[in-house]
Amino acid sequence: MRIFNTFSAKIENFIPFDKNCVRVYVCGPTVYDRIHLGNARTLVVFDLIIKALRRKYKKVVYVRNITDIDDKIIARAQEEKTSTVELATKMIAQFHSDANALGCDEPDFEPRATDHVAEMITIIKSLVEKKHAYISEDGHVLFAIKSFPQYGCLSKRKHDNNNDCNQSNSRSNSRVEALECKRDADDFVLWKPAENTNTSDSDNTATPAWDSPWGRGRPGWHIECSAMSRLLLGGSIDIHGGGQDLIFPHHENEIAQSRAAEPSQPFVKYWVHNGYLLAERKKMSKSLGNFQCVADALNSVSGEAIRLALLRAHYRHPLDFSQQRLLEAEKNLDKLYAIVASEKNENSDIRNVKIMQQVEEALANDLNTPLALAAIFSFADNIANLPQQAQKSAKQELKSAANLLGLLQNQKRIGKNLTKKSPEPDANIDDKWVQKKINERERARASRDFVLADKIRDELAGLGVLIEDTRVEK
Ligand code: AMP
Ligand code: ZN
Repeated sequence: MRIFNTFSAKIENFIPFDKNCVRVYVCGPTVYDRIHLGNARTLVVFDLIIKALRRKYKKVVYVRNITDIDDKIIARAQEEKTSTVELATKMIAQFHSDANALGCDEPDFEPRATDHVAEMITIIKSLVEKKHAYISEDGHVLFAIKSFPQYGCLSKRKHDNNNDCNQSNSRSNSRVEALECKRDADDFVLWKPAENTNTSDSDNTATPAWDSPWGRGRPGWHIECSAMSRLLLGGSIDIHGGGQDLIFPHHENEIAQSRAAEPSQPFVKYWVHNGYLLAERKKMSKSLGNFQCVADALNSVSGEAIRLALLRAHYRHPLDFSQQRLLEAEKNLDKLYAIVASEKNENSDIRNVKIMQQVEEALANDLNTPLALAAIFSFADNIANLPQQAQKSAKQELKSAANLLGLLQNQKRIGKNLTKKSPEPDANIDDKWVQKKINERERARASRDFVLADKIRDELAGLGVLIEDTRVEK
């Protein structure tokens, strides 16, 4: 597998620290609102990377955090006269439902920042001891970027030595806080003093705060990911990802914190960032108002159509959003589903694995999804020209190839197409045989042999027996 590393600005061969356990950390959502289609792009891109890694490596640990404490969450909770906990809980449930609709697998760990403040305090303490951080008069703990000469190594920003905090802070719009107490404008907050120390415990809309050696307060955003990745992945990560906007300041600051706290430990091998989803030629974002929430898009198209539309462009390129794209993706899916379900999928062996190989190769080459999809659609277009006998296995191959992208896995949709032809289950099917097949399939799923599991499910679907899946426990 080859992947573009933002750090080296090159496409590199992917060689994990430990081939027996690949470790991936992706920065997850700040849960103050429902996610939009731009957030969905990041979700889908990294889901695809994880699916590809899981086919190649026995063990992949995927961590995607949740930022459930942040100024935006606090402000929104105050607006809605609710607590940050209640707001976050509601948004996390919505996020899970959106991610599921987009066909994304659950991460192995989904740590919430508020559960790991103690680990954050430990790192901040060590940074203060090592003089990489200072405490300002007003109680902020700040990382001193001048203490870390490699600062800028990821974003390739040259540090300006005259960059003191009295200058106008042109970066404040990229989640860099303009604070008077900073020694350097790029110094960033590790710990913030609480604003409302006198609120009573019964006031559930009070801003959450934790005790620390620097008084009551809350952690800054960047330290969350350094602490949670260290806790769950042991500090050395193969792929650390997120959208392009996270390169600076978030990931630059994560490098500074983690490397300064543990100088002898390598931190991240491959930094991977996806490009923006654009609307009206600008990054889709809440602040610009040019967004569409996934939940709203789901009123007009399926999650799978959103996924397909997002995968149409190469993950590092910008992608223009339009409603038209979503509708086209839905039509394309209709066509593919009609093909794969157009007759009983017999238990045909996959004889010609060429399309699978083409898709695998395209994905292995820096996740070239446009190439993979072009191969799938041209293969689909050609099926009708094949001899009758070859068509059966070609349909099976088409489905398996699309599955690599997390597409054509909706059994209900296949079933719907099937029922157009054979509405009733075959009355002659032997129940014991069906049960045997179901058991066989359960075993295949438990051992993550999804190709075999899909084959059995299709065999049953071809006879009018539809199976609804529940989640596989890890
Ligand atoms: P946030 O909740 O703003 O921290 O964003 C969650 C994830 O979505 C981050 O990885 C962002 O980089 C990503 N993201 C936000 N907006 C966009 C966009 N318009 N296009 C692609 N990714 C985005
Ligand atoms: Zn992060």
